[in-house]
Amino acid sequence: MNQALLSLETASPGHICPFDQACSYLEQAAKELRMDQGLLEVMSHPRKVVTVSIPVKLDNGQVQVLAGHRVQHCDVLGPYKGGTRYHPAVTLREISALAMLMTWKCALVGIPYGGAKGGIAIDPARYSVGELERITRRYTSELIKDIGPSVDIPAPDVGTSAREMAWMMDTYSMNVGHAVPGVVTGKPISIGGSRGREMATGRGVMIIVREALAERGETLAGAKIVIQGFGNVGGAAAVLLDEAGAKVMAVSDVSGGIFNPEGLDIQALKVYAAENNRRIAGFPGSVPVSNAELLALPCDVLIPAALENQITEDNVHEVQAKFVAEAANGPVTLAADLALEARGVTVLPDILANAGGVVVSYLEWVQGLSYVFWDEERVNREMEGLMVHAYHEVIKQSKMRQVPLRVAAYTLGVGRVAQALSDRGLYP
Ligand code: NAD
Repeated sequence: MNQALLSLETASPGHICPFDQACSYLEQAAKELRMDQGLLEVMSHPRKVVTVSIPVKLDNGQVQVLAGHRVQHCDVLGPYKGGTRYHPAVTLREISALAMLMTWKCALVGIPYGGAKGGIAIDPARYSVGELERITRRYTSELIKDIGPSVDIPAPDVGTSAREMAWMMDTYSMNVGHAVPGVVTGKPISIGGSRGREMATGRGVMIIVREALAERGETLAGAKIVIQGFGNVGGAAAVLLDEAGAKVMAVSDVSGGIFNPEGLDIQALKVYAAENNRRIAGFPGSVPVSNAELLALPCDVLIPAALENQITEDNVHEVQAKFVAEAANGPVTLAADLALEARGVTVLPDILANAGGVVVSYLEWVQGLSYVFWDEERVNREMEGLMVHAYHEVIKQSKMRQVPLRVAAYTLGVGRVAQALSDRGLYP
């Protein structure tokens, strides 16, 4: 599928291709919806795939040329929206899969956006701040005709943060000649960022976990939580779950994990990570665990919040959680998803569990366009309303169709996009 557009790269043998997986989920939803084959074909293809060269002068005077991608999947509901990833494993296939996921996610939570994603295959830790700024500015300027507040609105993702969004906003604004806060979301509050955005994805994860526990008559108080990843998303989820009374027993980052069966002191861990170059290894009052061991810890809720393909056919039998909340995009492979379902483990799917980030991005964009800015309490309240509503719609759909939550969530998201495509009709 999509060989014409994705012929730049072929999936390597044995590698779990995120784009093929994304298409499988789409096909499953299309079958459930008895969708027209032509419509499915349209939805399986990104509308636009852009790859640009980014020549950058390194601090040592040498010039390196990087490749940057932006994939725009579908804009039938509104402007494209999606994160910008800096990670060595970035490929066009991965970015295409993530762009498609964004389309269904926005439709599921009822915000008027289409899906996009961007990325550069670099390890940001290997570049100086000055080099990262030059890379980000050149990448933005190469994409100048493809992004914009009513065209495509980037946001942070793995390896990027408010700092990169500020550089993107400034580069875009300098090119068009006036300040354009709405061109990116997740930017600093000083230039039109929204209160509550930094914690938004983690807050959304906490809300969905809370609702899922409530469905079984349980609460967050005392719930045993394990989190893989301690970045934008995992770090915020840990703080908010801890504040809600849950017991966060283990967390990890790329350097490994830490574990305390009595619960980690998350506030102290945040301070420790900030003082240790964002690394958590060696945190006092914890024992080290490997990332593989962490995923196998007995707990109520396992939250993969790092990268895709972390729970696979090879390790799914080791998972001892009642719930897996996909804070990352695509952390559970298709085969592992089926195995978890067969064992009665409830998977809270990514397009629902991590949608809090894009919801607050939308609220940031709305504030930027209207030049009226809200306090954090209002942002959190509006976000919570949309998340809780989406959760209950997914539960209703799952019961009605007798399907797992992921299929239910996809059926809702894909169904709304299909309806919009049918209503607008095929141009020309
Ligand atoms: P980030 O770069 O801030 O953090 C990633 C974390 O994962 C870091 O702690 C890193 O050390 C850790 N990590 C990386 N590789 C690992 C490995 N092999 N094992 C264990 N830990 C590892 O990224 P983020 O923004 O928190 O994004 C995490 C995930 O959430 C991604 O899948 C992203 O697409 C998704 N997501 C992010 C947002 C957002 O608002 N940032 C929104 C929705 C979804």
